[in-house]
Amino acid sequence: MIVLLHVVRRCYLLSLCGIAMRSKTKLLSIIETLEKIYVPWKWEIRDPFKILVSTILSQRTSWRNVRKAVDRLESKIGINPKNIAEANLENIKECIKVAGLYNAKSVRIKEIARIIVEKYDGDLSKVLNLPLEDARKELLSLPGVGFKTADVILLFAANKRVFPVDTHIMRISKRLGIVKGRFNYENIRHVWEKALPRDKYAVAHILLIIFGREICKSGKPLCDKCSIARFCKFYEKLKGGARGESSKERVAY
Ligand code: SF4
Repeated sequence: MIVLLHVVRRCYLLSLCGIAMRSKTKLLSIIETLEKIYVPWKWEIRDPFKILVSTILSQRTSWRNVRKAVDRLESKIGINPKNIAEANLENIKECIKVAGLYNAKSVRIKEIARIIVEKYDGDLSKVLNLPLEDARKELLSLPGVGFKTADVILLFAANKRVFPVDTHIMRISKRLGIVKGRFNYENIRHVWEKALPRDKYAVAHILLIIFGREICKSGKPLCDKCSIARFCKFYEKLKGGARGESSKERVAY
């Protein structure tokens, strides 16, 4: 009896390993397919505070507007914690107006700058030098900094082992059906982190955003033009005669 239980348990564990391995291969194949189609843009900003400011500015606007706002803020005030903390709020608003929601964004940027000056002597790299989980915790304690912003800073400014998940990546992950269990930020992040080699995180993050903007759009995905449809649960349902995403299931990202 004990031997039988042992065999059953072993088979179960092996089948779980098999599923995990298949899922891992699938996600890697997805990224390799996207690599053949798109040229990922180069992530130019490396300064953690500038990434933080850019990510706040990017909420509900295009990257073109973010770039304009960043350029203006840089030339008029200088994007570093000390300058922003000391700057007049109205001047900050004026610089970032093009990025929209400038009242709320300017207050948040100034407040974060003040905290960084007071708590870390104006040097955010002190936070990034901490072990990953500690650095993440510190960043998340800043007002208005959520998981995505923290992880973007950790990956692109400090090359930490973390995969940032934005709204495009959430939507694509949901449609692909890759998350077993609760569908939330942390689970999605862990799925991608486990599946991809460390040196693919940055490029995969960018490729998925491009793919989300161009093909797997939030309103109506262009499934007939999709090169990764063979990996997609949503597409499987669609072709199986189901209606695909019902209005109830529609992804709200
Ligand atoms: S098949 Fe459609 S839903 Fe699935 S990943 Fe491609 S575009 Fe998105």
